[in-house]
Amino acid sequence: MVEIVPVPAFEDNYIWVIRRGARAAVVDPGDGAPVLEYFRREGIRPVAILNTHHHGDHVGGNDEILAEYPVPVYGPAAERIATVTHPLRENDVVSLPDLELDFRVLEVPGHTAGHIAYYGANLLFCGDTLFAGGCGRLFEGTAEQMHRSLAKLAALPGDTGVYCAHEYTLANLRFAKAVEPANGDLLARDAAEQEKRRHGVPTVPSTIEVERATNPFLRCHVPAVVQAAETHAGKALAGPVAVFATLRTWKNNFR
Ligand code: ZN
Ligand code: FE
Repeated sequence: MVEIVPVPAFEDNYIWVIRRGARAAVVDPGDGAPVLEYFRREGIRPVAILNTHHHGDHVGGNDEILAEYPVPVYGPAAERIATVTHPLRENDVVSLPDLELDFRVLEVPGHTAGHIAYYGANLLFCGDTLFAGGCGRLFEGTAEQMHRSLAKLAALPGDTGVYCAHEYTLANLRFAKAVEPANGDLLARDAAEQEKRRHGVPTVPSTIEVERATNPFLRCHVPAVVQAAETHAGKALAGPVAVFATLRTWKNNFR
């Protein structure tokens, strides 16, 4: 049986360990120490590192892990990550026979120019692209690219588990409620996620189905979302990309 375990790092990062028995792959180890400690404690031998993008809080621990375990490192072909041994492009397949898992690569530019996601066995590791209730900031890509990337993820099966890299959910849902105050699914989700955080339980993973119903960034075509964005912008918005761009800027300045 495959188990997906969050190793918390820094303030709010989740480093995901995908394990089958004593073998594991690790996604976006921004810090090596907590991952190595988890491996030691559990008697795990890693078989691969998977990176989604080049930011330090996602690749910063590669070296430290590699010093102890010289495993293959998968990462985006379109970004410069010194430790990557297997550069990946759209539709490439990462085969991890030790875990009996295959992941397909999805190029999802927007947060960074070469950002990729890993999809397989109903699991999605999407780094800083799609968050529970929100999405990553546009550091290198355009609103159009990010909108397209999110649409690609939203089109995955509804029961796909969404393993994003940060615990940003409550802040994201607070913004989502400002956009869609009358979305019943959103209000119910917000209450449930607040309850989890009160008990120190991660709100991640989410599912694609839940994100479609409650994440405003996946709902740029929904009349209530369009209307909220137009009210915020003070003008009519020509299509979902303009709605997305407005939401993203609105969220950047939302307190
Ligand atoms: Zn990032
Ligand atoms: Fe990050």
